[in-house]
Amino acid sequence: MPTILELKNIGYSYHSLHGETQALRDISFGIEEGEFVAIVGPSGCGKSTLLSIIAGLLAPEQGTILANNPDGSLRYPRIGYMLQRDHLFEWRSVYRNVTLGLEIQNKKTPERLAQVDRLLQEYGLASFKDKRPSELSGGMKQRAALIRTLALEPQLLLLDEPFSALDYQTRLMVSADICRLIRQAGKTMVIITHDLAEAVSLADRVIVLSGRPAVVKAQIPIRLTLEDNSALAARNAPEFPFYFNKLWEEMTNETA
Ligand code: ADP
Ligand code: MG
Repeated sequence: MPTILELKNIGYSYHSLHGETQALRDISFGIEEGEFVAIVGPSGCGKSTLLSIIAGLLAPEQGTILANNPDGSLRYPRIGYMLQRDHLFEWRSVYRNVTLGLEIQNKKTPERLAQVDRLLQEYGLASFKDKRPSELSGGMKQRAALIRTLALEPQLLLLDEPFSALDYQTRLMVSADICRLIRQAGKTMVIITHDLAEAVSLADRVIVLSGRPAVVKAQIPIRLTLEDNSALAARNAPEFPFYFNKLWEEMTNETA
Protein backbone atom coordinates (compact mmCIF):
# COMPACT_ATOMS: atom_id res chain seq x y z
CA MET A 1 0.00 0.00 0.00
CA PRO A 2 1.28 3.51 -0.77
CA THR A 3 2.19 5.85 2.07
CA ILE A 4 -0.18 8.82 2.05
CA LEU A 5 1.60 10.81 4.77
CA GLU A 6 5.19 10.65 5.95
CA LEU A 7 6.16 12.46 9.15
CA LYS A 8 9.85 13.29 9.26
CA ASN A 9 11.59 14.38 12.45
CA ILE A 10 8.63 16.35 13.79
CA GLY A 11 9.30 18.50 16.85
CA TYR A 12 7.03 20.92 18.68
CA SER A 13 7.20 23.10 21.81
CA TYR A 14 4.59 25.33 23.44
CA HIS A 15 5.91 28.74 24.38
CA SER A 16 4.42 30.86 27.11
CA LEU A 17 5.45 33.62 29.52
CA HIS A 18 6.49 30.92 31.98
CA GLY A 19 8.81 29.21 29.54
CA GLU A 20 8.84 26.43 27.08
CA THR A 21 7.12 23.04 27.13
CA GLN A 22 8.66 20.64 24.67
CA ALA A 23 5.87 18.29 23.58
CA LEU A 24 7.28 16.35 20.62
CA ARG A 25 10.83 15.41 19.66
CA ASP A 26 12.06 13.83 16.44
CA ILE A 27 8.86 11.96 15.55
CA SER A 28 9.01 10.02 12.28
CA PHE A 29 6.57 7.50 10.84
CA GLY A 30 4.46 6.92 7.76
CA ILE A 31 0.74 6.30 7.35
CA GLU A 32 -0.31 3.94 4.58
CA GLU A 33 -3.48 4.24 2.58
CA GLY A 34 -6.30 2.26 4.20
CA GLU A 35 -4.29 1.62 7.34
CA PHE A 36 -5.58 1.99 10.93
CA VAL A 37 -2.86 3.41 13.15
CA ALA A 38 -3.34 3.71 16.91
CA ILE A 39 -1.18 6.07 18.96
CA VAL A 40 -0.77 5.33 22.66
CA GLY A 41 1.32 7.08 25.28
CA PRO A 42 1.15 8.40 28.83
CA SER A 43 -1.27 11.20 29.63
CA GLY A 44 0.14 14.64 28.73
CA CYS A 45 2.93 13.25 26.54
CA GLY A 46 1.90 15.11 23.38
CA LYS A 47 -0.63 12.84 21.60
CA SER A 48 -3.22 15.54 20.90
CA THR A 49 -0.45 17.91 19.83
CA LEU A 50 0.75 15.32 17.33
CA LEU A 51 -2.77 14.81 15.98
CA SER A 52 -3.24 18.58 15.58
CA ILE A 53 -0.03 18.66 13.57
CA ILE A 54 -1.19 15.79 11.34
CA ALA A 55 -4.52 17.64 10.93
CA GLY A 56 -2.67 20.75 9.81
CA LEU A 57 -4.07 22.78 12.73
CA LEU A 58 -0.59 23.32 14.17
CA ALA A 59 2.56 23.81 12.11
CA PRO A 60 5.51 21.68 13.25
CA GLU A 61 8.47 23.63 14.64
CA GLN A 62 10.96 21.07 13.38
CA GLY A 63 10.62 18.53 10.61
CA THR A 64 8.20 18.12 7.74
CA ILE A 65 5.19 16.11 6.66
CA LEU A 66 5.24 14.77 3.13
CA ALA A 67 1.92 14.15 1.42
CA ASN A 68 1.71 11.59 -1.32
CA ASN A 69 -1.68 10.91 -2.80
CA PRO A 70 -2.62 7.60 -4.43
CA ASP A 71 -3.09 9.55 -7.68
CA GLY A 72 0.53 10.70 -7.47
CA SER A 73 -0.27 14.30 -6.60
CA LEU A 74 1.27 15.99 -3.58
CA ARG A 75 -2.03 17.39 -2.34
CA TYR A 76 -2.58 17.01 1.42
CA PRO A 77 -5.26 14.38 2.11
CA ARG A 78 -8.69 15.70 3.13
CA ILE A 79 -8.92 15.36 6.91
CA GLY A 80 -11.90 14.39 9.08
CA TYR A 81 -11.53 15.01 12.80
CA MET A 82 -13.54 13.30 15.56
CA LEU A 83 -13.11 14.44 19.13
CA GLN A 84 -13.60 13.09 22.63
CA ARG A 85 -17.29 13.89 22.74
CA ASP A 86 -19.69 13.62 19.85
CA HIS A 87 -20.30 17.42 19.89
CA LEU A 88 -23.82 17.17 18.54
CA PHE A 89 -25.88 20.31 19.07
CA GLU A 90 -29.03 19.70 21.09
CA TRP A 91 -30.89 22.61 19.48
CA ARG A 92 -30.56 21.05 16.02
CA SER A 93 -32.27 17.90 14.81
CA VAL A 94 -30.14 14.84 14.02
CA TYR A 95 -30.44 15.68 10.31
CA ARG A 96 -29.37 19.28 10.82
CA ASN A 97 -26.44 18.01 12.90
CA VAL A 98 -25.16 15.54 10.32
CA THR A 99 -25.41 18.17 7.56
CA LEU A 100 -23.76 20.89 9.70
CA GLY A 101 -20.28 20.45 8.19
CA LEU A 102 -21.70 20.69 4.69
CA GLU A 103 -23.68 23.77 5.69
CA ILE A 104 -20.63 25.51 7.19
CA GLN A 105 -18.48 24.70 4.18
CA ASN A 106 -21.26 25.67 1.81
CA LYS A 107 -21.22 22.21 0.21
CA LYS A 108 -24.87 21.14 0.48
CA THR A 109 -24.96 19.80 -3.06
CA PRO A 110 -27.60 17.24 -4.11
CA GLU A 111 -24.84 14.57 -4.38
CA ARG A 112 -23.51 15.19 -0.87
CA LEU A 113 -27.02 15.29 0.61
CA ALA A 114 -27.87 12.03 -1.16
CA GLN A 115 -24.72 10.53 0.39
CA VAL A 116 -25.89 11.68 3.85
CA ASP A 117 -29.28 10.07 3.24
CA ARG A 118 -27.57 6.83 2.20
CA LEU A 119 -25.45 6.81 5.36
CA LEU A 120 -28.45 7.58 7.58
CA GLN A 121 -30.23 4.57 6.01
CA GLU A 122 -27.21 2.31 6.22
CA TYR A 123 -26.44 3.22 9.84
CA GLY A 124 -30.05 2.78 10.95
CA LEU A 125 -30.63 6.44 11.73
CA ALA A 126 -33.06 7.39 8.95
CA SER A 127 -36.11 7.24 11.21
CA PHE A 128 -34.32 9.39 13.82
CA LYS A 129 -33.60 12.27 11.43
CA ASP A 130 -36.02 14.64 13.11
CA LYS A 131 -35.14 13.66 16.69
CA ARG A 132 -32.87 15.62 19.02
CA PRO A 133 -29.44 14.17 19.92
CA SER A 134 -30.56 13.51 23.53
CA GLU A 135 -33.13 11.02 22.18
CA LEU A 136 -30.35 8.83 20.73
CA SER A 137 -28.29 6.15 22.50
CA GLY A 138 -24.54 6.70 22.98
CA GLY A 139 -23.79 4.43 20.03
CA MET A 140 -26.27 6.22 17.77
CA LYS A 141 -24.78 9.59 18.68
CA GLN A 142 -21.34 8.36 17.66
CA ARG A 143 -22.78 7.06 14.39
CA ALA A 144 -24.36 10.48 13.79
CA ALA A 145 -21.02 12.17 14.52
CA LEU A 146 -19.39 9.77 12.05
CA ILE A 147 -21.93 10.61 9.33
CA ARG A 148 -21.28 14.31 9.86
CA THR A 149 -17.55 13.64 9.44
CA LEU A 150 -17.93 11.32 6.41
CA ALA A 151 -20.29 13.79 4.69
CA LEU A 152 -17.25 15.93 3.93
CA GLU A 153 -15.62 12.96 2.19
CA PRO A 154 -12.37 12.91 4.12
CA GLN A 155 -9.56 10.53 3.12
CA LEU A 156 -7.87 10.45 6.49
CA LEU A 157 -9.87 10.26 9.73
CA LEU A 158 -8.24 11.50 12.93
CA LEU A 159 -9.86 10.37 16.17
CA ASP A 160 -8.71 11.80 19.51
CA GLU A 161 -9.90 9.43 22.26
CA PRO A 162 -13.32 9.38 20.62
CA PHE A 163 -14.94 6.82 22.91
CA SER A 164 -13.67 7.94 26.30
CA ALA A 165 -16.97 9.56 27.30
CA LEU A 166 -18.82 6.21 26.99
CA ASP A 167 -19.21 3.65 29.76
CA TYR A 168 -17.06 0.54 29.42
CA GLN A 169 -19.57 -1.86 27.92
CA THR A 170 -21.01 0.68 25.46
CA ARG A 171 -17.46 1.58 24.53
CA LEU A 172 -16.60 -2.01 23.52
CA MET A 173 -19.59 -2.15 21.19
CA VAL A 174 -19.37 1.39 19.81
CA SER A 175 -15.62 1.41 19.14
CA ALA A 176 -15.82 -1.85 17.19
CA ASP A 177 -18.94 -0.64 15.35
CA ILE A 178 -17.54 2.76 14.37
CA CYS A 179 -14.22 1.31 13.22
CA ARG A 180 -15.99 -1.36 11.15
CA LEU A 181 -17.97 1.41 9.41
CA ILE A 182 -14.82 3.45 8.78
CA ARG A 183 -13.14 0.38 7.25
CA GLN A 184 -16.22 -0.28 5.13
CA ALA A 185 -16.02 3.29 3.87
CA GLY A 186 -12.42 2.57 2.78
CA LYS A 187 -10.83 5.34 4.86
CA THR A 188 -7.43 5.65 6.50
CA MET A 189 -7.53 6.26 10.26
CA VAL A 190 -5.28 7.50 13.04
CA ILE A 191 -6.78 6.98 16.49
CA ILE A 192 -5.42 8.17 19.83
CA THR A 193 -6.36 6.09 22.82
CA HIS A 194 -4.96 5.45 26.29
CA ASP A 195 -6.74 2.07 26.32
CA LEU A 196 -4.18 -0.55 25.26
CA ALA A 197 -6.82 -3.23 24.67
CA GLU A 198 -8.71 -0.84 22.40
CA ALA A 199 -5.51 -0.12 20.46
CA VAL A 200 -4.79 -3.84 19.92
CA SER A 201 -8.37 -4.63 18.96
CA LEU A 202 -8.79 -1.79 16.44
CA ALA A 203 -5.44 -1.03 14.84
CA ASP A 204 -3.21 -2.53 12.15
CA ARG A 205 -0.23 -0.88 13.83
CA VAL A 206 0.28 0.68 17.25
CA ILE A 207 2.75 3.52 17.76
CA VAL A 208 3.94 3.85 21.35
CA LEU A 209 5.05 7.31 22.46
CA SER A 210 7.30 7.96 25.47
CA GLY A 211 6.55 10.46 28.23
CA ARG A 212 6.95 14.15 27.34
CA PRO A 213 8.66 15.18 25.17
CA ALA A 214 7.19 12.34 23.17
CA VAL A 215 9.47 10.26 20.98
CA VAL A 216 8.43 7.08 19.15
CA LYS A 217 9.39 4.22 21.49
CA ALA A 218 8.02 1.38 19.39
CA GLN A 219 5.89 0.56 16.38
CA ILE A 220 4.06 -2.72 16.68
CA PRO A 221 2.20 -4.25 13.73
CA ILE A 222 -0.89 -6.15 14.92
CA ARG A 223 -1.99 -9.37 13.20
CA LEU A 224 -4.99 -11.05 14.78
CA THR A 225 -6.78 -14.23 13.78
CA LEU A 226 -10.46 -13.30 13.89
CA GLU A 227 -13.17 -15.89 14.43
CA ASP A 228 -16.07 -13.68 13.36
CA ASN A 229 -17.15 -10.07 12.90
CA SER A 230 -18.32 -9.45 16.45
CA ALA A 231 -17.17 -6.54 18.58
CA LEU A 232 -15.35 -8.97 20.86
CA ALA A 233 -13.69 -11.08 18.15
CA ALA A 234 -10.40 -9.16 18.24
CA ARG A 235 -10.22 -9.36 22.03
CA ASN A 236 -10.77 -13.13 21.85
CA ALA A 237 -8.07 -13.65 19.23
CA PRO A 238 -5.30 -16.04 20.36
CA GLU A 239 -2.62 -13.38 19.68
CA PHE A 240 -4.39 -10.69 21.72
CA PRO A 241 -2.63 -11.27 25.10
CA PHE A 242 0.78 -11.31 23.40
CA TYR A 243 0.26 -7.87 21.86
CA PHE A 244 -1.35 -6.49 24.99
CA ASN A 245 1.64 -7.58 27.10
CA LYS A 246 4.08 -6.22 24.57
CA LEU A 247 2.39 -2.80 24.66
CA TRP A 248 2.21 -2.93 28.44
CA GLU A 249 5.96 -3.54 28.63
CA GLU A 250 6.70 -0.68 26.22
CA MET A 251 4.46 1.66 28.20
CA THR A 252 5.87 0.77 31.60
CA ASN A 253 9.60 0.72 30.91
CA GLU A 254 10.49 4.40 30.71
CA THR A 255 14.19 3.92 30.03
CA ALA A 256 14.16 4.08 26.24
P1 ADP B 1 -1.86 14.33 25.48
O1 ADP B 1 -2.88 14.51 24.42
O2 ADP B 1 -0.87 13.24 25.23
O3 ADP B 1 -2.47 14.17 26.84
P2 ADP B 1 -1.14 17.09 24.79
O4 ADP B 1 -0.64 16.99 23.39
O5 ADP B 1 -2.51 17.61 24.97
O6 ADP B 1 -0.95 15.67 25.53
O7 ADP B 1 -0.15 18.01 25.61
C1 ADP B 1 1.26 17.77 25.70
C2 ADP B 1 1.89 18.76 26.66
O8 ADP B 1 1.79 20.08 26.16
C3 ADP B 1 1.22 18.78 28.04
O9 ADP B 1 2.22 18.91 29.01
C4 ADP B 1 0.33 20.00 28.00
O10 ADP B 1 0.19 20.54 29.29
C5 ADP B 1 1.10 20.92 27.09
N1 ADP B 1 0.17 21.77 26.32
C6 ADP B 1 -0.85 21.36 25.53
N2 ADP B 1 -1.48 22.40 24.94
C7 ADP B 1 -0.82 23.50 25.37
C8 ADP B 1 -0.97 24.91 25.13
N3 ADP B 1 -1.92 25.37 24.29
N4 ADP B 1 -0.10 25.76 25.74
C9 ADP B 1 0.87 25.29 26.55
N5 ADP B 1 1.07 23.99 26.83
C10 ADP B 1 0.24 23.11 26.24
MG1 MG C 1 -5.00 14.48 24.49
